[in-house]
Amino acid sequence: MRKNFWKKIPLKRLTKEEWEAICDGCGKCCLIKVQNDTQSIPFYTSLACQFLNTKNCKCKVYTFRDKKKRDCLILTPDNLEQVMKWLPNSCAYRLVKENKDLPSWHHLNSKDRNSVHRTGNSIQNLAINEMFVAEEDYENFIAES
Ligand code: SF4
Ligand code: SF4
Repeated sequence: MRKNFWKKIPLKRLTKEEWEAICDGCGKCCLIKVQNDTQSIPFYTSLACQFLNTKNCKCKVYTFRDKKKRDCLILTPDNLEQVMKWLPNSCAYRLVKENKDLPSWHHLNSKDRNSVHRTGNSIQNLAINEMFVAEEDYENFIAES
């Protein structure tokens, strides 16, 4: 990967490896979101996609997630603009797109993939598997907007 690529190379010109490395591994985008007709911005819940390993915040079906989860948010340089509202404010893709610095705990700065968890910036061990909750009860698990 090129030195400081996220600071100086446009997203559409990144290699696949560089693009993937921008993800901080927080797991927040794998939380279930709810939205009604009057909201422009979705609410996050404390419920996680059934395919998320809530201990390490990794997707168990990453390479074929598009087939396993109908509404999985698969980010690409081309769709990032359109799906931004579904991403948490802390999402590294969002920060880079907005020309903001990545936080000190991001692995590209800390050189440690675990710093996102150690500093409490991931959902590690915090989310409940969506399969334990009926869909009509999701609103009871709204965590933040
Ligand atoms: S919210 Fe953004 S940075 Fe966090 S896991 Fe999802 S894509 Fe990666
Ligand atoms: S299928 Fe999609 S939403 Fe579910 S854990 Fe994997 S990446 Fe996250």
